[in-house]
Amino acid sequence: MLLRGLLLLDPGRPPTPGWLRIDGDRIAEVGEGASPGAARPDAGAPDCIITPAFIDAHIHLPQIDSVGADGMELLDWLNRVIYPAESWWGRSGATHMLRTAVRRMIHQGTLGFAGYLTSHGDVNAAATRALASGAGLPCRPRCIVGRVAMDREAPDDLLEHDRWRAGRAPSPTPLLPEPDHGARRPRCSISANPRFAISCTAELLAEIGWTVRDRRAAGAPIFTQTHLAESPAECARVARLFPDAPNYTSVYADAGLLDDRTLLAHCIHLADDEWRCIAERKSVVVHCPTANIFLEAGLFDLDAAREHGVRLALGSDVAAGPDVAMPRVARAMIEMAKLRRMTIAPEAHVPTPEQAWSMITRGNADALGWADAGRLEPGAAADLLILRTPETWLDEHLVGRLIYNWSAELLVSRIVEGRLVAPDTI
Ligand SMILES: [Zn+2]
Repeated sequence: MLLRGLLLLDPGRPPTPGWLRIDGDRIAEVGEGASPGAARPDAGAPDCIITPAFIDAHIHLPQIDSVGADGMELLDWLNRVIYPAESWWGRSGATHMLRTAVRRMIHQGTLGFAGYLTSHGDVNAAATRALASGAGLPCRPRCIVGRVAMDREAPDDLLEHDRWRAGRAPSPTPLLPEPDHGARRPRCSISANPRFAISCTAELLAEIGWTVRDRRAAGAPIFTQTHLAESPAECARVARLFPDAPNYTSVYADAGLLDDRTLLAHCIHLADDEWRCIAERKSVVVHCPTANIFLEAGLFDLDAAREHGVRLALGSDVAAGPDVAMPRVARAMIEMAKLRRMTIAPEAHVPTPEQAWSMITRGNADALGWADAGRLEPGAAADLLILRTPETWLDEHLVGRLIYNWSAELLVSRIVEGRLVAPDTI
């Protein structure tokens, strides 16, 4: 397939007029100027922008229809809104909700994500198979996804799988079910997802730590995803549940859960030694600004992350975050940094739109270990977006205009695994 347009090779530089040739699911060639030979492009046009697709580093698929239940603190919101939604996913909603979540992401240009399912066993094994095969979906999104592990402080139906497994051998609900990719290149990998320290006993966290180490030793490069220090009430509860732990971060560190394949969502209320611990272990902090504003969890300290050299990614955290569109999450990161600078931190660094765009493409790809995603270069995955903007946007503020004016209507085409996604399937 041949694409023609303005190539956003580097968000920090003006787009380059050129072309891309796709072979199978990969970008085979990238060129400047007119397309080679007399070949007519299969998609794109000289005034279209071609960019790597967006990647979301933190989303809860079962919460896709829970957006907008406002007015609660995190723990109250989980109990009153999220746990009932996750129970519904386990009872009968999973197939429909999974399809809804994936379609909404694709509609907004997100073709890769790191996400959470619920704690149910068979239901999520089936969801993982659907993601891995693309069955019933417009395409196969690229993903790292995990069954949520939790064994306390939530309704019984969400806890029974981990409680039951702990008392049985062999366990009826594997901690990490393996997806079947068939003969195609794998696009879906499994992660360990302990929800957070409140809903996991020290025994469950330790079990997850052992399991991850065992699976890595067997050659499976699996990730761990969890939440850390999102709200003050959550931090206070963790301190009561783990009275011997010096701090919240150490609860995960002691269970062997912090390394360079760990995604830690939020990290708003951390002490200096916790930042140092995360930096030393090269774990990734996933900043979720829209979610933090919605739940009034706090203002994330980008400067602390930068000063400690912590790896950073960006996530929508739907449904605490109200929007799956990653350009709007990028915008919220900029706005939150500006808010800190205007109020409590006059010296705060504010990311540019170009830096923010880079984070939701190449930056998130790198954080998820996808060295072949989020970039326009030979050998990279052909997961791409073709955009058309008003002509007046094509100046040095193009990326800022895209972020601040974002709408899915800007998307002309989405290309997944080297193929155009049929619009009527989204
Ligand atoms: Zn979350």
